[in-house]
Amino acid sequence: MTLRDETVDLLQRLIRVDTTNPPGNETAAAELLRDYLDANGVACELYAKAPERANLVARIRGGSGPTLALLSHTDVVVADAAEWQRDPVGGELVDGDVWGRGALDMKGQAAATAVAIASLAREGWRPEGELLFVAAADEEVGAGFGLEWLVEAHPDAVRADYSINEGGGDRLELDGRAFYLCASAEKMTAPFRLRVRGRSGHASMPGIADNALLKAASLVQRLGDYRPEPRAEPEIVALLEAVTGRRLSSADELLPVARAVDALLGAQIEPLLGPTFAPTMISASQKRNVVPAVCDVVVDSRLLPGQTPPEQFELVRSILGPGEYELEPIEGQGGTRSQIGGPLWDAIASFVREEEPEATVVPICVPGFTDSHWLRAAFGTVAYGFFPARAMHAAEAALLIHSADERVPAEDLELGVRFLRQAARTLLR
Ligand SMILES: [Zn+2]
Repeated sequence: MTLRDETVDLLQRLIRVDTTNPPGNETAAAELLRDYLDANGVACELYAKAPERANLVARIRGGSGPTLALLSHTDVVVADAAEWQRDPVGGELVDGDVWGRGALDMKGQAAATAVAIASLAREGWRPEGELLFVAAADEEVGAGFGLEWLVEAHPDAVRADYSINEGGGDRLELDGRAFYLCASAEKMTAPFRLRVRGRSGHASMPGIADNALLKAASLVQRLGDYRPEPRAEPEIVALLEAVTGRRLSSADELLPVARAVDALLGAQIEPLLGPTFAPTMISASQKRNVVPAVCDVVVDSRLLPGQTPPEQFELVRSILGPGEYELEPIEGQGGTRSQIGGPLWDAIASFVREEEPEATVVPICVPGFTDSHWLRAAFGTVAYGFFPARAMHAAEAALLIHSADERVPAEDLELGVRFLRQAARTLLR
């Protein structure tokens, strides 16, 4: 059996285990991976805060060198079978693609990682440090059963110097050249509630009341009209330097230059130049004929790494101006970065050079949250999102993630296994 067939088979079986979160039920997936790894001579441990929400940690021990943690999550988001052309938990192999929820996000990478570590163990390979495989629960909801809990409750089980996770590996073609994105940073998720106050009254005589919903409308518009002062973050500067051959000195140049190279690149980096504010939910009066005294607006907001919630609120107040409103943080997480360069970066770059000599690895900050944050925050781990994809176009993959007809080409799974095996051998030799 080839490594490609082995990965396809394992992924098919993983997809058939329904780990839709909520409720998750990731223990069944963790046990499937454990049985597979056990059979290949890899030591495994399950860690669970709740019995049905287990995380798997597998390891190959070696000498006193660094630890590399290959991260995955086993939970998936809900799939509405009515929207799909195939059964979302069927795991069918059709024309070289494995179909099903999680194929891209991220049971495919989990299966490839399991096969990479199993095949290394079968060959008798021993690292100069330690190779870990962490298949965590609860990434999609983040209710405290997954990596966030593991780094708190079992830090010794998951402490790592380096980590490879999801979030990158997309191949872009710009100006006729190929680039692979390595996610070395991520924005902070920092949503908040904007509570606008007025005075209630009978809606038949609106003039006697002070309508909080109307007041909120103009504040919401101000948030929508706001365009941040662009900041030159190191990932974007380095990316555009690799693409254009020149180091852009002014932050104002970044977006126009990116757009001139490629419209899609412009759209991709626009949210990475400053904070974003996207009002997404609103609630006011519970009765049609009562003018609301209070209107609550929930704003999805993402900050650049290093920007803090107090800075965010100062900025929001300057956008909204004075008024009868309060700002209340809802929850905040993420917003960490790792260095660009160093041994893991070099291992990724050397793999790409061998696979595709004309291609270049470039850093990117991702707009959303990944589990890499927990390792960076707890241990200072150098964590990158990188799982190379070449057979499926990055734009197509982006449309399938969390959507209908999610599928992954077996060719990309095989590329991923090759990458993970080589990264481990290069870094831990
Ligand atoms: Zn994911």
